[in-house]
Amino acid sequence: MNLLEGAHHIIQTIEEAGGEAYIVGGAVRDMLLDRTPGDYDLASSMLPEQIIDLFPVVIPTGLEHGTVTVVLNHVPYEITTFRSEATYSDRRRPDEVTLGVSLEEDLTRRDFTINAMALRPSGRVDLFGGARDIEERIIRTVGEPAERFNEDALRMMRAFRFMSQLDFSLDEATEQAIVKLAPHLAAVAIERIAIEFEKLLLGPGKQRALQAMLRTGIERYLPGMTSEIVKGLAQQSFRGVSKDAVWTLVLDAGLAKDQLTRWKRSKHQVQLATRLTPLLHRPLQDWDRYRLSDEELMILREMTGTDYPERSDLPIRSRKELAVDGKDMIRLGLQKQQIKEALLHLEYSVVTRSCPNDRVTLLKEVERWRTQSENK
Ligand code: ATP
Ligand code: MG
Repeated sequence: MNLLEGAHHIIQTIEEAGGEAYIVGGAVRDMLLDRTPGDYDLASSMLPEQIIDLFPVVIPTGLEHGTVTVVLNHVPYEITTFRSEATYSDRRRPDEVTLGVSLEEDLTRRDFTINAMALRPSGRVDLFGGARDIEERIIRTVGEPAERFNEDALRMMRAFRFMSQLDFSLDEATEQAIVKLAPHLAAVAIERIAIEFEKLLLGPGKQRALQAMLRTGIERYLPGMTSEIVKGLAQQSFRGVSKDAVWTLVLDAGLAKDQLTRWKRSKHQVQLATRLTPLLHRPLQDWDRYRLSDEELMILREMTGTDYPERSDLPIRSRKELAVDGKDMIRLGLQKQQIKEALLHLEYSVVTRSCPNDRVTLLKEVERWRTQSENK
């Protein structure tokens, strides 16, 4: 049974028990685009507790939103009870989720026409012209754009994200509403914005999405962003950029390093970005190849398309291969902090070939380095 057959099996099981179920959201969109969906999300008239009774393996992944995960042949399927979302007073999240509404209501709460279709083996439900908008390659809100962005300002970023991922254009009325409501983005949790922005930067339509952002002026409500940086991002032509390296692009386009903390990215992402950005536009030195991790080297290779020789030509490949070690430093009477610095100095000297990796030479070099640094 493939993924789609699994989804059909779930729909059939729910229908036989007297309920309704449909494939919804991104999977319907992807199928119409002739893409194979990565996962199939389902919506159903049944309540979580009824679904739990129908299938042998069900994980209650989000009961408060009406979501459970049915596991079929080791594949997880998210099933969410038809729901509506009432009054969004803070423009950040729904105040109240109502379960057990109709399919029509469930589709009406969704963001864009292309994301608001439902599919089951017996046919497709498309209330807002989603299939037509896929045909015309256009991002358009379900219902009145200003109203929808007022409910949830994140949708403005999602519009640009889908433009980029799908290489679609933006409906004119939708764009005009973003021009008006862009300031509301400032109230949205930065983590949610960052997820959409990362997807945007990795999409094939990055350039047109960023240009649309510039037309609306929305970059002013993103931490540390300026129109110059966004223009820079639009012009970049790096090749394969991995998900973790996307912030390297942003720093390269001119975002100040200390602004990155405002985006609340993971330590790993921040470290990659700050270490790799300075290396994008110059050839790697031996010292760079020595100190970078395998992952960092691979990312640079993929982004710049340059092939660096393996590390095998370096005099040493790690501190362990140094002809002296920490014990030698203790014997020389160095203090703890000094030992770290001394070893780093020796690594650098050996890797850059200003010293051979020879015990006697290195011990002499430590003495010289110590006298010099103590006289500073
Ligand atoms: P992806 O393939 O990137 O996951 P997706 O369409 O599945 O794309 P999700 O963010 O996973 O996008 O959301 C799933 C579905 O939930 C969307 O297709 C849309 O119908 C609905 N949705 C998600 N976020 C919102 C939102 N902020 N406002 C309204 N509907 C939303
Ligand atoms: Mg999804």
